[in-house]
Parts: sequence; C-alpha cells; structure tokens
Amino acid sequence: MSGTPARYGMVIDLDRCTGCGACMVACAAENNVAPTPQATPRTGVTPMLVRKVSNGMHGATRRETFIPIMCMHCEHETPCVKVCPQQAVEVDKATGIVMQMPQRCLGCRYCMTACPYHARYFNWRDPVWPAGMEKSLNPGVATRMRGVVEKCNLCHARLHSANEKAAAAGRREIDMADYVPACGEACPTNAIHFGNLADQNDPVTREAHSANAFRMLARIGTEPKVYYKSKDPWVRALAESASGPGKFSERPAERLAASASEVHHG
Ligand code: SF4
Repeated sequence: MSGTPARYGMVIDLDRCTGCGACMVACAAENNVAPTPQATPRTGVTPMLVRKVSNGMHGATRRETFIPIMCMHCEHETPCVKVCPQQAVEVDKATGIVMQMPQRCLGCRYCMTACPYHARYFNWRDPVWPAGMEKSLNPGVATRMRGVVEKCNLCHARLHSANEKAAAAGRREIDMADYVPACGEACPTNAIHFGNLADQNDPVTREAHSANAFRMLARIGTEPKVYYKSKDPWVRALAESASGPGKFSERPAERLAASASEVHHG
C-alpha cells in the first residue's frame, strides 16, 4: 500500500452488537468528553451514540436491534465540509478522515444541520470534570471549549501515535494493529472492525463488500466510510427506508431518530 492514500473506515456488525454502550464510554474517555448530567438528548456530546431501533411491529413479530451511530466520514460531497464558512472541517486526503478544527469553528452549526446522520454535537458548556477526574484525562487529546461543534475523528490521536511508532521503527507505513479507535478496542463482542478501505487485502475491506454489508442512507450518495452488517433484511431495509429523495434538507435521519431511542446519553 506504499504511496496510496489510506481510507480509514469500519464495519459494525449489528448482529453482534448487544447495545451495552461500552463503545460510547470508551469514546468519551479517549476523547476527553466531560460528563454532563444535566444534558438533554439535544445538548449532550456523544460522538458515538448507540440507538435502539425496532421493526415497528408488536407482539411475537417485533424485532429490535442496536445501531451505533457516529460520523460516517462521508467520502463524496461531504455535507458538513460543503457548508462550513470557516473551513473548520476538511477531508484529510492522506487518511480520508473528516477532520474538525475547533480553533476555526465559530459555532454557526450549519454543519449540524447539513449532516444527514445527526453525527455532530455542539458544546454548550466549557468542560467541567468531577474533582479528581481531570487527572485521568487523555494527554494526547485537547479539550474543547464552549461554542464549538465536534464529532468523531476516528481517534486521530491514536493515528498520531501509530505514525510515531512507525517512524521510530524506520517504517513509512503504520501497522494497523497500532491504530484501532477506542470504540473498536472496547467492544466486548468484537462488533466493530476497523481498517484501511483503500487496501483490498484488508479484512475490513472484504467485509465491507460482503453480502450483508450496507451503508446508512446509501441512496443520498455521501459514500460513508462506516459500513454496517446484518443478516436481518428488516435492519438493512431500515437503513434505506429512512432516506428521503436525496435532499439533505429533509434531514432523513430525523425519521430514523424519531423511531429510535438512545441506549445511554452523555
Ligand atoms: Fe460530516 Fe455528518 Fe458526513 Fe460526518 S456523517 S462527514 S459529520 S456530514
């Protein structure tokens, strides 16, 4: 893969997800997200959010599943990038990661409106940690201030560490074993698989193209780098039925959200 830009992404196996929320906790701890007990579903910061969804039936025919929702790292016409007036969001050409720069963000929240997946959160407050908890902050991740938007960045600090390790060993390429986002590392059922989608030999690339793999709202053409997998046809159908006729302004995920309930909230 030497010289080829990476396209980091993941496959989340919904048949393995039990909705335990370990990924959410790991994400918050890794990225220094302060607890906000007073937060509502609209004012909390949850870069990874596990939603519970159902097939809408009752009785014996009812089926439920959990869907972890995060930034999909949209590859094509990335909606949040297109609307940001501050160039505070960009797609890193070397990695495919959609990066958020809080120092440039003016808090207009256009990106939150544009994101079809509701994967962005606004910091309504400066972070406050319970006494003593500040000692356990991750030194590799800056804390964010009130008034800026944030989201998943695929644990970019871990990528930095992997790059440093590769450089120290005289390698140009990272070892993928050195770069696993916190959610994937924490998942107790191994439902979250992370890899380089630009590498055809990466097991995650093969999984992303397997028969039961799908992407959320694929119809709207954002080319997410987060894939899902399920054997259940109703789950795969849910991902598409929530989409509108390709208009971001219709906020198609709103309908998915309306039928879903969060497992936890930060
Ligand atoms: Fe931007 Fe939302 Fe796409 Fe992430 S999922 S790249 S925040 S539009």
